[in-house]
Amino acid sequence: MRQFSVTDSRAISGRGTSGLRPVHPGSGDWGDQMGMFMDYDRFFQQQIENLHREGRYRVFADIERHAGDFPRATRRKDGVAREVTVWCSNDYLGMGQHPDVMRAMRNAVDRCGAGAGGTRNIAGTNHFHVLLEQELCDLHGKEASLVFTSGYVANLAALSTLAAKLPGCIVFSDALNHASIIEGIRHSRAEKRIFRHNDADDLERLLAEADPDRPKLIAFESVYSMDGDIAPVARFCELAERYGALTYLDEVHAVGLYGPRGGGIAEREGVADRIDVIEGTLAKAFGCVGGYIAATAAIVDFVRSYASAFIFTTALPPAVAAAAITSMRHLKSSDAERRKHRNAVANVRRQLTDHGIRHMDNASHIVPVMVGDPVVCKQISDLLLDDYGIYVQPINYPTVPRGTERLRITPSPLHSDSDIEHLAASLSAVWRRLELKSAA
Ligand SMILES: *Cc1c(COP(=O)(O)O)cnc(C)c1O
Repeated sequence: MRQFSVTDSRAISGRGTSGLRPVHPGSGDWGDQMGMFMDYDRFFQQQIENLHREGRYRVFADIERHAGDFPRATRRKDGVAREVTVWCSNDYLGMGQHPDVMRAMRNAVDRCGAGAGGTRNIAGTNHFHVLLEQELCDLHGKEASLVFTSGYVANLAALSTLAAKLPGCIVFSDALNHASIIEGIRHSRAEKRIFRHNDADDLERLLAEADPDRPKLIAFESVYSMDGDIAPVARFCELAERYGALTYLDEVHAVGLYGPRGGGIAEREGVADRIDVIEGTLAKAFGCVGGYIAATAAIVDFVRSYASAFIFTTALPPAVAAAAITSMRHLKSSDAERRKHRNAVANVRRQLTDHGIRHMDNASHIVPVMVGDPVVCKQISDLLLDDYGIYVQPINYPTVPRGTERLRITPSPLHSDSDIEHLAASLSAVWRRLELKSAA
């Protein structure tokens, strides 16, 4: 994939505007030289230039991960290849490169081939999908589960279907919910009330105001991926019970990582049976790809039968399902990865503090280093990558609110002590080079 710079896009302007479409009144500013038709490319280029001006144009690093050598990768830039250490992967435990997981995937390819062969409805339900859904029921102690092509699609499909079909449903949504949750709710066209982030009192106020006879759904996450804070899950369950609401919990950043068997925060807090729908991903701690919901048989059968984004798309490759099963089984019985993960996180925090790098305190595995400016954030990230062999992608708006731009560091059990020392020393060096404020 190639990144277009501003000059590239200027170089190609002037073509692609040959369609004979009359100019819509709203496209006035974007007319071509004749004033007849909209200059589409000029419009798109201008939008991209806005991103450059705000310093939040996204550049993807060209990274090739090394299987068996996590977190090492080759980074290519301007024809030069260089080894880097990845510090921003959501493959939190390195399970995507676990030898058993890779073997399961290879074996399944040898048995079943590359693709699923269809939608789940038509020719695409493979035995590995059936086994995977059994594994997920067991993980969350639920009657049923349903796998989607991604966590994003799981949220979009499940929320849009549930909230659209429940007559008069009101959705109560945490202010910092993920884009996929917001899209799912928006797509349902249900009425939405946004409660202050992780604020049970605010949620209760909104629940109390609502018509007691209308169906209600509370949508929230357990671990929030950008600040790394954790929802008061049990408090939300109490409120849901008191006001007769369904609970929908996104555990994407918690499954595999929390709870004695990796069942997430709900498992750790012993409240999984009070959550109506648990949504998760196979792509983060499980190291593969795909998303899912786990719930009662009735809810799952309902979503399976009515959700367009489930029905009309090709199923996950069986090999992905096989790999996810192996990864999940491993993390159900082994706590070693989680233990080492916690130690690495604590070590990173300690080293950052020692080097005067301020980081956000939270009770999770995510270590945000606040920068507060998109241009500086990108500059830090570029310097780390170019001069120190450290890959931490800048996190800018709209992923986080403006003014809270940050580096989001995700330590893994496979980062060594010397990796951690190198990270902290490099950040400290970059802070000095850019004359940024340190905590000291
Ligand atoms: C990443 C993410 C998703 C989407 O999961 P994918 O499997 O990557 O599509 C959903 N919810 C949250 C909170 C996420 O961070």
